[in-house]
Amino acid sequence: MTETESKWGEKLKKFFKDYYWNEILQLANEYPDQRSLEVDFTDMEKFDRELSKELLEHPGELIFAAEAALKEIDLPVEKSLEQAHVRVIKIPNRIPIRELRSKHLSRFVAIEGMIRKATEVRPRITEAAFQCLRCGHLTLVEQNSFKFEEPYAGCEGDNCGKKGPFKVSIEDSTFIDAQKLQIQESPENLKGGSQPQSLEVDTEDDLTGNITPGDRVIINGILKSRQRALKDGKSTFYDLVLEANSIERLDKDFDELEITPEDEEQILELSRDPAIYEKIIGSIAPSIYGYEDIKEALALQLFSGVVKNLPDGARIRGDIHMMLVGDPGIAKSQLLRYVVKLSPRGVFASGRSASASGLTAAAVKDDMNDGRWTIEGGALVMADMGIAAVDEMDKMKTEDKSALHEAMEQQTISVAKAGIIATLKSRCALLGAANPKYGRFDRYEGLAEQISMPPALLSRFDLIFVLLDTPNHALDSRIANHILQSHYAGELSEQRLKLPGSKVTEDFVDAELEVIEPVIQAEIMRKYVAYARKNVYPVMEEDARQHLIDFYTGLRKSGEGKNTPVPVTARQLEALVRLSEASARIRLSNVVTLEDAKRTIRITMNCLKNVGVD
Ligand code: ADP
Ligand code: MG
Repeated sequence: MTETESKWGEKLKKFFKDYYWNEILQLANEYPDQRSLEVDFTDMEKFDRELSKELLEHPGELIFAAEAALKEIDLPVEKSLEQAHVRVIKIPNRIPIRELRSKHLSRFVAIEGMIRKATEVRPRITEAAFQCLRCGHLTLVEQNSFKFEEPYAGCEGDNCGKKGPFKVSIEDSTFIDAQKLQIQESPENLKGGSQPQSLEVDTEDDLTGNITPGDRVIINGILKSRQRALKDGKSTFYDLVLEANSIERLDKDFDELEITPEDEEQILELSRDPAIYEKIIGSIAPSIYGYEDIKEALALQLFSGVVKNLPDGARIRGDIHMMLVGDPGIAKSQLLRYVVKLSPRGVFASGRSASASGLTAAAVKDDMNDGRWTIEGGALVMADMGIAAVDEMDKMKTEDKSALHEAMEQQTISVAKAGIIATLKSRCALLGAANPKYGRFDRYEGLAEQISMPPALLSRFDLIFVLLDTPNHALDSRIANHILQSHYAGELSEQRLKLPGSKVTEDFVDAELEVIEPVIQAEIMRKYVAYARKNVYPVMEEDARQHLIDFYTGLRKSGEGKNTPVPVTARQLEALVRLSEASARIRLSNVVTLEDAKRTIRITMNCLKNVGVD
């Protein structure tokens, strides 16, 4: 018995009996199908502060002692909880992945994030039985570390002691299921589109096999270090690994942004402003000149339509997919980055991304995980319940193109490869940008062909904007002015004011700042969007409905017999509904009115004209 065990053993037994007696009885009944006793940290804290403090500081020893104590409890049934685990949830030490430091080593920490990768579940040996080939004796060696331990002291058989040769007897060894995960910071916890950081996680036994990429979780565990291996020996650097003790699944739409009562008041007041649409549009990428119609559509995408679950089990997405196609250098990438900043959950990715998972998902043989098959979620999985902004979509991989059909409409991604079968969720809105194949857009050639995307895929976008870079003197000089102003707005100009001989007047600086500053600050805008998406589920009024139906049937009729680049299908009608709902959400209104329908039709018409349907 170790010191920790004897010191805390009695206390732990009392804690279990006082607080978890029913759960222990249930565990005993179900054992070994159920193998874990889940303990709430706050209960332990209530029971004995010293004990709970010890758990945070010396989790390895204390969990060991707790499992030993659990085994010793007298049960009314004839059973021994030999391999039962004690899993503690609600650990208060919540540390962001990027803030993990050496002081957290060996401590109990709680890491929140999204699962990015998960390996296959494979057995790990926990006790190896070495059979001596000379005397036949079995020598048992516990395998606690990463590296396989041999019986260095020699055979333990009577009068043998030989250093081998040995053979590992599989039947006499003990194995446990093991799975490696990689957890990554959730998009909503990243400031201004910075790259997410990730952490490796080891899970064992009943924790394995339940988690797939895209799941939002809190993993409570012990932070361990693992020495890096160099080609010729060991490195002085260590990598961090979390040894999972328990996993808490987070609700799919848990509150990521804290909205205070003051925020709510501000949001409600904004929503009553008759100029709310102009204000919202003016707050999307204010440093980009023009593109009012695109910014309006981006606003609708941020607010999103309402998802519908039909009685027959079918589901119609509420997310609005949008695509910007056009000549290079016209601020497509900038618009994408801005939307990611404004979305409560935005992920930025490029179609030419080097990672194996690409945009959707991939099953890869990962060297990092001893060549185990690993399933890795791509941008659309990581953006679940948010917006995935994908730049350079024309350069995406062929596998992604075919997976996108499912990802955009059913909002799932199926992976079936090498024994891994999984369905990942991708309930996100896609905002794509693509450059035409030949550098410049040719208005007389087919759209699908120019951005090398099949028409079937294009038809899944609710809105496609084609932007042409046609020289226009008046417009060019206005853009030029705007760009130069945004470059010199703010502090820089204020500094210049102080320079002797500066020609920049105070009036000028004020005027510039007005142009460039967003009307609604990004922080409150994100909250406004989150609030609307969470609380507002608008329903369509009769005259709005009729208006959309008339427009749609007219569109179908005019498209008859023509070979349009993007066919008008029932999808367009669904798109019109989504866009109108989003328009109502901007006002936080529970009814979709004729005004919303008209706005939607105006935006849709603009797009269709450019794409070549008219
Ligand atoms: P794209 O992705 O379309 O090739 P970028 O987003 O990289 O283009 O834009 C190139 C540069 O030109 C950016 O720095 C952008 O801010 C600027 N730019 C282009 N059009 C505008 C505009 N209308 N207003 C302000 N800046 C613009
Ligand atoms: Mg670009």
